[in-house]
Amino acid sequence: MESKVVVITGASSGIGAALAKQLGTEGHKLVLAARREAPLKAVAAESGDAKAIVTDVTVRADVEALRVFAMKEFGQIDVWINNAGRGIGKRVLELSDDDLDQMMAINVKSALYGMQAVVPHFLQRGEGHLINVSSFLGRVPLASFRSAYSASKAALNVLTANLRMDLAASHPNVHVSIVMPGPVATDFAGSSLHGTPMVPPPRMMSVQMADDVADIIAGLIEQPRAEVFTSPTLKSMAKKYYEDVSGFESGMAAPSLMAPNLAGLAERMKNRQQ
Ligand code: NDP
Repeated sequence: MESKVVVITGASSGIGAALAKQLGTEGHKLVLAARREAPLKAVAAESGDAKAIVTDVTVRADVEALRVFAMKEFGQIDVWINNAGRGIGKRVLELSDDDLDQMMAINVKSALYGMQAVVPHFLQRGEGHLINVSSFLGRVPLASFRSAYSASKAALNVLTANLRMDLAASHPNVHVSIVMPGPVATDFAGSSLHGTPMVPPPRMMSVQMADDVADIIAGLIEQPRAEVFTSPTLKSMAKKYYEDVSGFESGMAAPSLMAPNLAGLAERMKNRQQ
């Protein structure tokens, strides 16, 4: 497998950390970014040839500095993954201006800064891969307490698709992808703005491990595609949603569909620890 220079934002925990460790093991050269220096450096130490740089992706100058740092360390960038993100635990009628602004800053503007920082480099080289980590909720907004988060990921999906359309004809070797996970067992729920209400995921959606999502993103780097749902169930749910939105929504309200589905997760976490 060809060794690539990969930049990952939000690499201090969760999906970003799992991905860094996996890509590092595969021999890729990594530049890892997040705000918390200690956990970020700890991830870098377990990720092979990896450099860490403290970055707040909501600050455009920080994202520019991330690109400059990666270029200085490795001379080029092959893959840039806008993975940093944050949820929210408020419904539409509870949202403040600041809530909406924060969701757009961390989930949309951060990725816009990343795209605008690295894509000119890809265009100059005639190749490169931009990957934005979005969410299933950006396509199927069925967790209403994530309101502004889901809206921000929907905006991210659209910006990503528009960038891809802009480049497709003129730069066929510059790839632009969106990844849409469903629920993943990370710090995401706990670190969401205003916390996360105790609402279990719908029964038909299983909770994935960060390593599972990392596997899928690693596969995407090998074989670029426009869009990836991280499980086939999510893809078929999205199809059903768009076939009949109101039917889907009324089905989601049925108590049976909201029953807990955490037993399988506990079992899988136990297996991984062994
Ligand atoms: P985590 O909370 O574990 O990780 C979030 C990462 O983003 C951390 O490394 C955090 O680092 C970083 N981050 C947050 N704010 C900033 C900032 N301003 N600047 C730089 N880095 C920042 O969650 P996940 O790993 O689950 O989330 C990763 C991505 O996956 C997100 O985009 C999320 O929306 C998406 N996703 C997650 C799902 C889930 O259920 N977990 C489902 C669908 C999508 P630090 O605090 O050190 O800055």
